[in-house]
Amino acid sequence: MLFILYTTGRCNLRCRYCGGSFDDSIVPWTVRYSVDDLSRILRDGDDIAFYGGEPLLNIDFIRSVMDKFNASHYILQTNGLLLNKLDPDLVKRFDTILVSIDGPRWLTDLNRGDGVYDRVVENLRWLRRVGYEGDLVARMTVTEDSNIYRDVRHLLNLGLFNHIHWQLSFIWVEPWHDLWGWIRGSYEPGLRKLLDRWIERMKSGVVEGIAPFQGILTRILRGGVKPPCGSGVDSFTVVSDGRIIACPIAVREPWAYVGRLEEIDRERIECYKPPIGEPCLSCKYFEICGGRCLYTHVERLWGDEGMQAICEVSKFIIDLILDRMPIIERLLDKGIIAEEQLIYPKYNNTIEIMP
Ligand code: SF4
Ligand code: SF4
Repeated sequence: MLFILYTTGRCNLRCRYCGGSFDDSIVPWTVRYSVDDLSRILRDGDDIAFYGGEPLLNIDFIRSVMDKFNASHYILQTNGLLLNKLDPDLVKRFDTILVSIDGPRWLTDLNRGDGVYDRVVENLRWLRRVGYEGDLVARMTVTEDSNIYRDVRHLLNLGLFNHIHWQLSFIWVEPWHDLWGWIRGSYEPGLRKLLDRWIERMKSGVVEGIAPFQGILTRILRGGVKPPCGSGVDSFTVVSDGRIIACPIAVREPWAYVGRLEEIDRERIECYKPPIGEPCLSCKYFEICGGRCLYTHVERLWGDEGMQAICEVSKFIIDLILDRMPIIERLLDKGIIAEEQLIYPKYNNTIEIMP
C-alpha cells in the first residue's frame, strides 16, 4: 500500500493549470496530526510519498516521518525549486523523485513562471552531483501549447531523468480552444512518432524511460489495479488535517472520503471501493485503461465532451502499443531486450500510467 502524505497545502508557485496553494481551511498549511498517529495505518512493506502544495515547504515533517518509519520506498513529488534545501543524506533515501517540468524552457516558464526551468534544471544537476542514484521522473503537464514528441524528446535529451511521465491537463482549466484539432492534429501523430522512435531504440537493446508506454505495456503483460494510479485500491492520501481520502486531489469530494486518521484502522481503509461505473465497466479497454482517472471519471468536469476526449486518447495510446506488440515480443524472444527493462513502475510511485 502507498500512503501519500500532504506536508502542506501551501505552494511557492501559481501554475497556469493549477492556481497555487489550497485554502488553509481545506488543506491546512501545517500538519495538524501527530506523526505517531501514522502508525495506526502503516504496515511493513508500505510506501510513503510526500505531496502538497509544495511538500518541500515542510521539510521538518518529511524528516520526522523518515526518522520514525522505515517505508519500503520513499517518494517525493515536487516542483523542484527547493530540492537543494534537502540534506544530501535525506535525498539519497528517496527511491523516486518526481519533478514538475513541462518541456523546453519557454513552455515550462509559460506554464509555471519566469525562471522556473533554469532553477529546476540547476537543482536536478545538484541532485546528481550529491550522488542521488534513485529514479528521477519528469512530471509533465500537457496543455494545448505542448507538442508531445518535441517536449518528451527535449526532456530525454537533457540526460538527467530516468523516466518521463505526462498527464493531459483535462481537469482544471477551461475546455481548450481547439481540443479535437489538437488531439488529432498534434497529440495523436506526435504519440505515433514518439512510439516509433522508442521501438527503433529498443532494436539496439535500449528501453528509453517513457513512463506511459512502459506502464501501459506492463498492464498488457501483467495486468494491474483499476484505476491505474491505484487511488482507493493500493493508494490512499492523508491530508494535513488528518483526513484520509482515496485520491490526492479529491480534497472536497464526499465520494473520496475514507475516514479520519485518529479513528480509522487499516481494515476500514482496505474496505474502500473506488466508485468506477459506466461507461468503463462495459468498455473493452477497461482491463488496460482501468477507467484512466477516478477523479475525472466521477467528477466529469468537462461533461460528455471531456469524457469522449479522454476515451479517444486513452484508446488511441493503448491501440498504438497493442499494434506494436508483435515487434516488442520478437525483441523479447530474441533476447535483445529483457522484460525487466520494460516493466515500470515496479512499485506504485504515484505515476498515473494512463496520461
Ligand atoms: S477508454 Fe474510456 S470508457 Fe474505456 S475504460 Fe478508459 S476511460 Fe473508461
Ligand atoms: S489519476 Fe485521477 S484518480 Fe488517480 S491520483 Fe490522479 S487525479 Fe486522482
